[in-house]
Amino acid sequence: MIMKGSLVERVLAGDPYAVARAISLVEVEGPEGTDLVRQVFNRDGHAYIIGITGPPGVGKSTFVDRLTSEIRSRELTVGVIAIDPTSPYTGGAVLGDRIRMQTHACDPGVFIRSMAARGNLGGVSRATGDAATILDRAGKDVILIETVGVGQDEVDIVRMADVSIVMVMPDTGNEVQVLKAGIMEIADVFVVNKADLEGADRTVAQIESVVDLQEYAVETWKPPVMMTQAVTKEGVREVFDKIEQFRSHHVEDSGLRNRNRTEFRLRELLARRFVDYVEYRMLKGDEFEQIVSRIADRTLDPYTAVDEIMSRLNQGN
Ligand code: GDP
Repeated sequence: MIMKGSLVERVLAGDPYAVARAISLVEVEGPEGTDLVRQVFNRDGHAYIIGITGPPGVGKSTFVDRLTSEIRSRELTVGVIAIDPTSPYTGGAVLGDRIRMQTHACDPGVFIRSMAARGNLGGVSRATGDAATILDRAGKDVILIETVGVGQDEVDIVRMADVSIVMVMPDTGNEVQVLKAGIMEIADVFVVNKADLEGADRTVAQIESVVDLQEYAVETWKPPVMMTQAVTKEGVREVFDKIEQFRSHHVEDSGLRNRNRTEFRLRELLARRFVDYVEYRMLKGDEFEQIVSRIADRTLDPYTAVDEIMSRLNQGN
C-alpha cells in the first residue's frame, strides 16, 4: 500500500510502513524523530496500554501472541512493542518474534515491532514512550509492551502502561525474588503461566500470600493472581476480561496514570538534556573525564564535584 502525503499524515492514517519508519526515527532520537513526535503529539488517540513483564522463558512472547488473537477476536486493533533485551544469554526474543510473525503477519489490524533495549540512544523507556505515542496516534486500540523484567529500564517501561501484567513461572523458586525486585508495586495482575507444569497451584498460593501481606484500602484494586497456559491459550481470555475489569475499575484514575507517565517522561527527558548540556556544552574539552578520573582516584568526592559544577551553572558559566 502506497499512501500519499507526509510521514506525519501517513502515520495518522495508520499506514504500517509509515509507523515502522516513524518508530525507527524515534529509536535513534534524531531531529526527525523529535519533530515527528512534536507534530503528532496533540492529535487524537485512545489506545489502552498493557505492559507485560517477566523473566526470560516465562512465556511472554507466546502469551502476547495469544493475547493479540484474543483482542483481535473482539475486533480491536493491536500494536505490539517487544523490547528485545539483545542479551547473548536469552535467545527468547528471536524465537518470540518468529512466533509472532507467523500468527499475525497477514493481519492489518496488528502491528508488531521489536526495539533494542541496549545501546538505545537516550534510553529505552524514552524510545518506548515515543513508539507508544506513535501507535496511539496511528489509531491502535490496544498497545502491548512486552519487556523482560529484570532491570530498572523494564520497571520504568512498565510504569508507562495503563495496566501492568507480571508473569511468573511455577515452582522456579524465583517468584519471591521477582516480587522483591520492586515488581510488587507495579503489578496490577499476576499471571502464573505454564499452569500445566507442576507447582503452579503452589506458586499462585505463594504470590497470593505476598499480595495479602500488603495493605489495601477497601476500594483499591487488589492484584489478582491468574493461571494461564499460553501455548494452548488457556486462561488468556480470562486475563483480558480481568484487564477490562481493571480498566473500568480505574476510569477515574486513568487520568492520574497518564499524568504520572507524563511526569516521568518529562523528568527523564529533562534530566538527560541537562546532563548532556553540562557534559558537552558547559564543561570544556575533556573536563568531564578529568572529573571522573579525580573521583576514581579519590582526590575528589562526587558531592563536591557536583556542587562545583552546580555553582558554575548558577554563575551562568
Ligand atoms: P519469553 O522468553 O518469556 O518470551 O518466553 P516464550 O514465549 O519464548 O516461551 C518460552 C518457552 O516456553 C517456549 O518454548 C514456549 O513454547 C514455552 N511455553 C510458553 N507457554 C507455555 C505453557 O503454558 N506451558 C508450557 N509447558 N510451555 C510454555
